[in-house]
Amino acid sequence: MYRPQVEPSSLIRLRQVIESGWIGLGPVTGQFEQELAVSDLIGKNPVAVNSGTAALHLALVVADVPKGSAVVVPANTFVSTAAVALQHQCRVILADIERATGNVDLESVREILDTEPDVSAVIAVHYAGIPCDLAGLSELSHRYGVTVIEDCAHAIGSVWQGRPMSESPNIQAYSFHATKALAIGEGGCVTFPDAASAERAKRLRRLGIDMSARSWGNPYDIPELGFKYNMGDIAAAVGLAQLEGLRENLRKRRSNLIRYRERLADSPVELVRESGDSDRSGGFAVPILVKNRERVRKELDAAGIESEIYFRPLGAFPIGATRPTPVAERFAQDVICLPIHPLISLDEIDYVCDRLSECVA
Ligand SMILES: *Cc1c(COP(=O)(O)O)cnc(C)c1O
Repeated sequence: MYRPQVEPSSLIRLRQVIESGWIGLGPVTGQFEQELAVSDLIGKNPVAVNSGTAALHLALVVADVPKGSAVVVPANTFVSTAAVALQHQCRVILADIERATGNVDLESVREILDTEPDVSAVIAVHYAGIPCDLAGLSELSHRYGVTVIEDCAHAIGSVWQGRPMSESPNIQAYSFHATKALAIGEGGCVTFPDAASAERAKRLRRLGIDMSARSWGNPYDIPELGFKYNMGDIAAAVGLAQLEGLRENLRKRRSNLIRYRERLADSPVELVRESGDSDRSGGFAVPILVKNRERVRKELDAAGIESEIYFRPLGAFPIGATRPTPVAERFAQDVICLPIHPLISLDEIDYVCDRLSECVA
């Protein structure tokens, strides 16, 4: 399902950081942010942090989402997306999803906004790398005066209506966890349409520390208390190395995804995919929907094929959500994600598709 792949040049970069005598937050983290900013693969003004979860939490804080308000989160996501709203002392309201894309259903969001007066933000997740309808979200955001934040943990390399994710006007949170397209092990970054928000996030990721008025008698001020969320130069060194191979890896993920779609086109398997012609999944995952999911997963396992379930619907966890999300519940019973990482060969994908077609026949 996963194969850790770390660029060999990370060893050289790590040696440089270790020998430099500065291994915490420092110039290499700044360089990593610089390279991310010019890559055009992620949003603008990136601020590097120690996880995607921290990135989502900082997004809520810097967007000034009021404490005590409600945040809408799709039921089909990793628990982080809801956990950060609770950490921010907000109530979580789960929105249902579209079966075809796995993404948040805008009708469900609209229903919530019509009936719940205290919603201040919606966190949209680009599930498996499949872009959400950002135009629809932004229309709702204007009409109801709510903030849209994007959980881009799966969305590096994704394209919405012919445009890269970097062109989104929203605050975005990315993860560099071991299983993600840009894998550091642990890490993440939050991006902002404006530089002032990024400056604020850079203070808040390190307890709110501001050294701009530093003097012999005063090491720093803390105008606004923050969190211990900063990335350090050891992680940034690996991040810089991983960026070197990122475009090629995304190209492989994309061709792996296309191979799966070609080979499964005539099978009874339901492919979860983009709804718009000019949308493009970055190929983080290959979600499919099948009947008898447990039996199929067992048979795949017996044929030496690992698979994964993304995700258990969030209603299953103690997050205080009460609204039913029937489409997400059903999706979570039927979904299987197949291996797509850049080290899998097209022959291996054909093998997976052949075995899968036998199981579901
Ligand atoms: C991985 C993931 C996160 C959290 O990222 P971490 O770096 O593990 O904190 C958030 N949302 C989604 C959808 C994810 O898959």
